[in-house]
Amino acid sequence: MYEEAVNAFRTHWDETDGHGAGWQNEYWGKTMLCFAGAVAYTRDPALRAWTLDRVHAFVKEFQKPNGYLSTYATEDLLHINPDNPNAEARWGFNIWGRKYTLWALIELHRATGDKFCLDAAVKMADHLIAQLKRLNMPIAKTGSWWGISSGSILRPMVELYHLTGRTAYLDFCRDIVRGLDAEPSNPGTILRDAFRKEKIVDWYPKATYWAKAYEIQSCLEGLVAYYRATGERRALDGVIAYHRHLVDEELNPMGGAGYFDHFLNARAHANGMTELCDVVHWIRLNRELLLLTGEAKYADYIEEAFLNAFLAGVSRDGRWGAHIIRSHGTRHLFAPAQTGMKLHQCCPDNMMRTYFDYAATQAARTADGAVAVMLYTDGRCTVGDAAVEVAGGYPWSDGSVSVTVDTPAPTTVRFRVPAWCASLSVAGVKTTPRDGWVAAKAGKGRTAWEFGFDMRPRLERWTGPEEEELPPSPQMHSHEIPKYTVHFMEWYTPDMAGLSRTRSGVRVLRGPLVLAKGRLAGTSRAETLCATTLRDEGWSAARIAPAARTAENAGAFHPWILTFTRGAEEKSVPVGDFASVSNIDDPSNWFSLWF
Ligand SMILES: [Zn+2]
Repeated sequence: MYEEAVNAFRTHWDETDGHGAGWQNEYWGKTMLCFAGAVAYTRDPALRAWTLDRVHAFVKEFQKPNGYLSTYATEDLLHINPDNPNAEARWGFNIWGRKYTLWALIELHRATGDKFCLDAAVKMADHLIAQLKRLNMPIAKTGSWWGISSGSILRPMVELYHLTGRTAYLDFCRDIVRGLDAEPSNPGTILRDAFRKEKIVDWYPKATYWAKAYEIQSCLEGLVAYYRATGERRALDGVIAYHRHLVDEELNPMGGAGYFDHFLNARAHANGMTELCDVVHWIRLNRELLLLTGEAKYADYIEEAFLNAFLAGVSRDGRWGAHIIRSHGTRHLFAPAQTGMKLHQCCPDNMMRTYFDYAATQAARTADGAVAVMLYTDGRCTVGDAAVEVAGGYPWSDGSVSVTVDTPAPTTVRFRVPAWCASLSVAGVKTTPRDGWVAAKAGKGRTAWEFGFDMRPRLERWTGPEEEELPPSPQMHSHEIPKYTVHFMEWYTPDMAGLSRTRSGVRVLRGPLVLAKGRLAGTSRAETLCATTLRDEGWSAARIAPAARTAENAGAFHPWILTFTRGAEEKSVPVGDFASVSNIDDPSNWFSLWF
C-alpha cells in the first residue's frame, strides 16, 4: 500500500489520466498521518525508524528544490477550466493533496522530533505562499468548491505557525479565513453562511454539489485551530453555529452527520447513508470543540459516531472499510478502488486516524488542572502526571464501569455524564450531573470509583417527509435528491435493489449504542427489512436482556432480546449493536436500525 501511494508521485496520474482532477495526491499524506499516529501511540523504535527512512527517501526523491511536492507535474495547475464561466466546472486537488503531505510531515515531526520532516514542511508551505502571490491568485479560486478543498490546508498551516512562530503562516491563514467569510459572490463562504437561519441544504442552488461534507468539515476543524492561534472569536462562533446546523439538520441515524457525502438535510431521509470520511471528520470536529469548550455534549457525539457509524464501517479484521455506511439493507458500500488506485480509497485511508483520535479523547487535563474522564470504553491513559484506567466492558456490559485515577498529588476529577444518562450512580449512590459533569476528589495515590450507567433502552421516533418511491436511476450524479437516493442505495451493491425505504421509523438505543436487527443477531430477513414501522403504533421500548448464544446470533458482538410493549401486548425482537450486525461485506447479509 505504501509503494502505491509513493508511485502516484512518479506517474502523475492525477494530471494525465485523472485529467487534472485526480486525488492520488492525498494518499501518501493520509497514510503517513496514520503512521505518525502509530509512532506516537506505540512509541515503537522500530516503527519510528521504518517510518523516518521512508519519509526521508520520499522527500529526497520528490521534493523540488523550490519546495514543491505534489503528484501534479505542472506546478501551476491549481484548478482546471480556469476560464469557464460556470463556477462548478472549476475542479482539481493539487492543493488538497499537498495539504495532506504537509500535514503528515508536521505530525511526523511532532511524533519523532525529526527536523528533516519540519524543514520539508516549511519548504512546502513557503512554496505555496510564494506561488499564489506570483500568480496573484486567492486560494478561494483554486481547487474545487471555490476554495473549500484547498482552504482545508488551514489546519496544518496553523500547526506550522505554532511550530515555527513565523507570522507569514498566520497571515496566510488569515487570507484563507477571509475567503471563507467575505466574498459576497463566492458560494464557498461557509464561515459567513454558518450564521444563516435557513438549513444548509437551502443555502445553495445545488446542494448535491456544493454542500460537500468532508471538505467543509475539514475547513471547520481548521477554523477551530485558527481561533486557538488568534483568539478571533468570529471563527469559533461560526464553527459553533455551523455545528448547530449539523445537529439540527444533518445527524443521521447511524450517528454521523450528512447524507451520502453531502449536507442534504440528513435527518429527513429514511435511507440513511453516510461517508466514512465524514464520520471521521465529524468525530475530529467534535473533539476539537470538546477540548476547547469542555462541553460534555461534544463527547456524546463522538461516542455515538465512533461506536455506531464508524465501527460499522470498519471490516472485522480492521484491514479495510466502507465508503458509505447505510442504515439498512444487505451491506454497506465497502470502499471500491478510486481515482486510479487499487489499494487506496479516501475512507479506509482515514480510518486509522480515528482510532487515535478516539483513544486520545478518553481523558484530559482541564485548564484549571483537574483530570477530566470523558470516554468509558476500556482503556488506560496518562494525562500529565495522572494515570487513568477505565474497565467494565462499557457500553456492551450492564453499565457498571470502574475508573481508577493514580496521581502523585490530590486532584479534582471530573467525570463526563452522557446526556442520555439522567442520573449516574457513583458507588451505588445516585448522583445528578451538572452540565454533563460530576466532580470528585482524588487523594494522593490510587482512587477508584464504581459507576452504574442507565442502560435501559430508549426509543426515538424519527419523522420526516415520505420519500418518493422511484425506479432505479441510471443518473449517477443526478441533482434531484430522490434519484440520488435510489442510485446510491444500489451503487456497487445490486443486491440492495428494492430496499429503499419511503418512511423512517423508530430508532432504539442502549446507552450510546444504536440497536439493530440483523441476520447476525438472529432476526429473520423478513422482520429485519420490513418496511413498516412501529413509529405510529403506540409501542414503547420496555426492556432489553442478553440473549442466550445460539448459532443464529453468533455473529453479533452482544446479542440481546429487545421487548416493546403496548398496553398489555408485548413484542420481542432479537437485536445486536448496529456496528457488529452490519460490518461484513456480504450480499447475503441483512440488517436494519429501523424498527
Ligand atoms: Zn471517503
